[in-house]
Amino acid sequence: MDPLVDRLDRIRGTVAPRNHNARTIAALTSNPGCGRRGLMDAAGVNKGAVAGQLGFPAGFGQSRFAIARGNAFEAQVKADGAAELLQLLRERLGLAIPEVAYDDLSNVGGNASREVRYARTKALLARAASDRDDAGTLFDHPMLRLEIAGYYAYLEPDLIAFRAGGKFHVVEIKSFAVIDGQADPGKTAAAATQSAVYVMAMRELLAELGHPPETVSHEVVLVCPENFANRPTATLVDVRKQLTVLRRQLSRLTRLEAILDALPAGLSFDLAYDADQQPTRPADELRKAVSTIDARYSPDCLGTCEMAFFCRDEAAGSTSALGRSVRDDLGGVESIGTVLGLARGTLTPGAGQEEIAGLLRFAHKLRTECLDGIG
Ligand code: SF4
Repeated sequence: MDPLVDRLDRIRGTVAPRNHNARTIAALTSNPGCGRRGLMDAAGVNKGAVAGQLGFPAGFGQSRFAIARGNAFEAQVKADGAAELLQLLRERLGLAIPEVAYDDLSNVGGNASREVRYARTKALLARAASDRDDAGTLFDHPMLRLEIAGYYAYLEPDLIAFRAGGKFHVVEIKSFAVIDGQADPGKTAAAATQSAVYVMAMRELLAELGHPPETVSHEVVLVCPENFANRPTATLVDVRKQLTVLRRQLSRLTRLEAILDALPAGLSFDLAYDADQQPTRPADELRKAVSTIDARYSPDCLGTCEMAFFCRDEAAGSTSALGRSVRDDLGGVESIGTVLGLARGTLTPGAGQEEIAGLLRFAHKLRTECLDGIG
């Protein structure tokens, strides 16, 4: 076994790894300097369960209702060999797609291991890419992988990829509504970033097979319910910009080897589940293990990472807890206590802190004058 994979397995412990999806990769790249998230995601650790055992259960994520609605809509679009989706692609987007074959890659002869599914996905995409007849096959739940910070992350996509006109297209099915031709801009942007992750992973796979990256189109098909009915509508979305951002952010991720080299040999986040699937790992011991790895908390984490409440508590009193822009404006002063001391003049600035101390004293003076004026 690859020593890196072996080490990550030991860090995760006895439970099965959690696969990445485009959402988790997009979130990972939103805080590329955080080694803690990088390592936990690479090891496939269930961050939500770890946070819960630490006493800081995750406070975000899709509601059960939203998940159920999303699953129902996806099942509707994919029913009968994705008949409804095919009709949409033909009618709305003018794509010349003949009768197609439909390959469900969620398991291979009953084997759902990610390595086997990846190998099968690769074989089928290789065949489709070499097929001059443009067979128009739909691939449901292909298993992809992407190199992240020096290791391969498997992607568990909920998408269909299809080939038409000599190109592969990624289809992303989302349950947020398009009303009068308009969708929520934030949700559309997130869907575009997630689709870009899949485009990138498919391009890597096809490059391995000797095909040019453009074989996978930068135009993805976003399928959403239209207006207030559950009728699907399809839109082509250009993800070139998202691909550029993603590439840059992935290149900024801390290399995994560098994180692992600094860790104690026996480090593990194993929750030691008992026969009733209840975690038995003492919270203090787990906290010690988690705190071994540097984190980069910022308020953005509250919307993107299950560990956010734990990391916020840990970062209390530090300027990073106030957000990146505040931390950068404070030019390397790490504690809020020091900031207040410099502003009030009760602390003498250290070497290199003279300029920021002057600005803080000035801001404090303005604030005091304003408050006195109001009084
Ligand atoms: S919540 Fe913690 S682990 Fe997650 S990205 Fe933020 S700092 Fe890193």
